[in-house]
Amino acid sequence: MKTMQKQAETPMKQIQFIDLKAQQDRIRPQIDEAIKRVLDHGKYIMGPEVKALEEKLAKFCGAKHAITCANGTDALQLVLMAQGIGPGDAVFLPSFTFTATPEVVALLGAEPVFVDVLPDTFNMDPDSLQKGIQAAREKGLTPRGVIPVDIFGQPADYDILEPIAQENDLWILCDAAQSFGGSYKGRKIGSLGDATATSFFPAKPLGCYGDGGCVFTNDDKMADTLRSLRVHGKGTDKYDNVRIGVNSRLDTIQAAILLEKLKIFQDELEVKKKMANAYSTSLTDFAETPVVLENCTSAWAQYTLVLPEGTDRGALQTQLKEQGIPTAVYYPMPLHQQEAYKNCLTAGDLNVSEDLSTRVLSLPMSGYLKDDEVRYIVKCL
Ligand SMILES: *Cc1c(COP(=O)(O)O)cnc(C)c1O
Repeated sequence: MKTMQKQAETPMKQIQFIDLKAQQDRIRPQIDEAIKRVLDHGKYIMGPEVKALEEKLAKFCGAKHAITCANGTDALQLVLMAQGIGPGDAVFLPSFTFTATPEVVALLGAEPVFVDVLPDTFNMDPDSLQKGIQAAREKGLTPRGVIPVDIFGQPADYDILEPIAQENDLWILCDAAQSFGGSYKGRKIGSLGDATATSFFPAKPLGCYGDGGCVFTNDDKMADTLRSLRVHGKGTDKYDNVRIGVNSRLDTIQAAILLEKLKIFQDELEVKKKMANAYSTSLTDFAETPVVLENCTSAWAQYTLVLPEGTDRGALQTQLKEQGIPTAVYYPMPLHQQEAYKNCLTAGDLNVSEDLSTRVLSLPMSGYLKDDEVRYIVKCL
């Protein structure tokens, strides 16, 4: 009894924030074989694995087309290029997201307009979107599109955002870099909006061993344009140039790796769901736990708490670190306050984004997190 008590007090082994090592251990022989097959056939660019993966991804999420590319940022950019945005155009997006979302809008010469988020789901606030559209019109900009972000894996509320987009003649590009694998009221992420962009960065829900990304769409014409844009605006081949494009393809080796990872993806999602439920059941008195909309599923890219006002987040992180528990803050500053975007238009005050950035804390989460690890983390908290 005495020794057992002692064990409970001493920190258990270092917990991983996202346990990519455990995942690799599980499928290492299959990954080695997959890479070897590519080395054997030598088709490093747009090899057979790329096409096979695109078919599997489209089928997985119920989209008509999957067009892979070099990374998630390019996936967003390719869609914006296909939509032909430029100077004088306004694109609406949440301020509480990763910099890639507004960056591509600004890079193409259009105006990112920052919109606030909801305090429970951390996703785009429809009222704030309306205000943003108004503000853009008043400034003489042309509202063109909206990029809802499914932050931390939780789908945005598309049933509420879609009518606003329709009324204002806006297209919807879903930023699903964190939510691939999730679903919205029976529809898989990837099948919503006019197009969906996702990322295969290693730490994302479906990650490769380098950079990778994908666009999903049901629109045949957009799919053709995207396939052209990713290879220098090719026509019949890359020496027939029908538009200005970019070089953004997914490596065959990464496609081969993703084909293996896709086989265990659903299983990992189930484990994450279970672990998220375990966290939430035990932590409701400690902090605000993440909200997933009814009939929706999160891909749990992050499990993110909102700490009570006045909590010393830094001190809590240090203490947890000493107990072998890594944590992270996504995002410490909303984008409209960043140096790069501080002159951009906002939909008025973005109080929720600003408040969240001071109080959020993400806990370890992956398809390899264990029940006893969750219990230990909960106990330490
Ligand atoms: C990671 C991320 C991206 C960009 O993906 P990369 O593959 O790193 O280029 C875009 N949007 C969001 C919300 C992300 O989290």
